[in-house]
Amino acid sequence: MKISTAILSSLVALAVTPTSWVFAQDGTPNIPTTGTASSYACDPNTCKLPTCQCASQSPPGGLKPEEVPQFVTITFDDSIQAKLVETAHALLNVRNPNGCPAKGSWYVSMEYTDFSLVQQWYANGHEVADHTFSHVGTPSAQEIQAARAMLHEYAGAPLGKIQGFRAPFLNYTADTLNEISKQGFVYDSSATAVTDDCYWPYTLDNGMANDCWTGICGAGIKLPGVWEIPMYAVVDNANTAQLMDVYLAGSSQDVTTWTTTNFDRHYNGNRQPFGIYVHPTHLTKFDGVPIVPGAEEPDVMQKNLVEVIQQIAAKENVWFVSNAQLLEWMKNPVPISKLAEQSYMKCDLPNTGKEICNGLQNITVADTGVVSSALTNNCNFNVTNWGTCFNCPSAAPTVDNPTPPPASSDRHAVPDNCDSIWWDPVAGQCLCTTDSCAYKDTAVPVNGTDGKGNGSGSKDGDSAAISISPVVSVAVIGSVAAGAFSLLL
Ligand SMILES: [Zn+2]
Repeated sequence: MKISTAILSSLVALAVTPTSWVFAQDGTPNIPTTGTASSYACDPNTCKLPTCQCASQSPPGGLKPEEVPQFVTITFDDSIQAKLVETAHALLNVRNPNGCPAKGSWYVSMEYTDFSLVQQWYANGHEVADHTFSHVGTPSAQEIQAARAMLHEYAGAPLGKIQGFRAPFLNYTADTLNEISKQGFVYDSSATAVTDDCYWPYTLDNGMANDCWTGICGAGIKLPGVWEIPMYAVVDNANTAQLMDVYLAGSSQDVTTWTTTNFDRHYNGNRQPFGIYVHPTHLTKFDGVPIVPGAEEPDVMQKNLVEVIQQIAAKENVWFVSNAQLLEWMKNPVPISKLAEQSYMKCDLPNTGKEICNGLQNITVADTGVVSSALTNNCNFNVTNWGTCFNCPSAAPTVDNPTPPPASSDRHAVPDNCDSIWWDPVAGQCLCTTDSCAYKDTAVPVNGTDGKGNGSGSKDGDSAAISISPVVSVAVIGSVAAGAFSLLL
């Protein structure tokens, strides 16, 4: 297999908006043409779900490929900004067989991120994950901690729901994996799976089984209970493995062909999850901003990718999930027929009875990409300008001081016993009053500034998944056989 260099163009600083810089940063790593003998070994008789899973090309739980859903994950990397969220929603504009909207995962770096939009993303059931503070390769412990602390402090994401990590430039090391384990993350998703190593997600009890050519498999990493969700490469017609931003490597027609061919390899094979990994900045048109040399216009690439996604969604038993949802299934795999009834696949939104600043309040976005809402605070530090439902910091956050003292005290931080979707930060009140929506955040504290103790806590974060009620149902009832849906709300 040839080594891909096409995507290195994504290292180019791409775009500027009137309010902020946008960078595209990650690339497909160089993947060798021949495999290296793996030193990976795992005994399925001792490594058992839900806490341990060997790397395997076969579905978990002894299920046959035809019994398992074809999961598709669409993931987004880097900052969250208004126009980029619009792009993400365009890609996720498909529904699962149970009528619920597709969910995505966003690996968020802090620079240029608008935290009110992070909260909105989370409140709509999508996943928020850690991509470091300043997007550096081989990040320090503090780079990882700082991002998680800010996502909690300014976007209200419960610490236990920030479960995932992706290394900037996908440049992870043994040290990085050890660090995320130490900080209580549930999973990493930075490794590459091609064809010979196209494994379902697995735990790192017995080390890495992907990217063995780098020596990582023999590096002696053993991280019980920490999952690796490999990123599944698309092999193009030149036998080159493409990983992120496949659309930059060929024409729209190429992308359609490659994506469909590789999707079918999963779908008609062992049904390993299939991934679409994007930097939404490449797919977003910013006025007056030059495009990546050799690439099509962003809106053309976006339109084509949306069509590809909708073609995939039209196939039977295809579910678009966040990586967090995928892991819920991995821990307790159920056949297709039982998936719709799993709590993590539902799509209820809270009915709080009044508009609160929980990410679901009215937010308007100006043509300039500036976000505003009657309820959000605007934090302006000249070079950065973002909204939050919580108190602005008194100074611009830095990697060493990601959550400076607040500039005011009229907003109340999310407590450990209330998910932010129920939390009114103005009144300081949790609007969930019944046991059925009770919440307890059992995340490992990330630093000394969040007031959450000294590091003791549940290893796997939030093991008690939230159940929300009373609810406003946004589900649609699907008539799967007919391929038709009727919208209730
Ligand atoms: Zn990145």
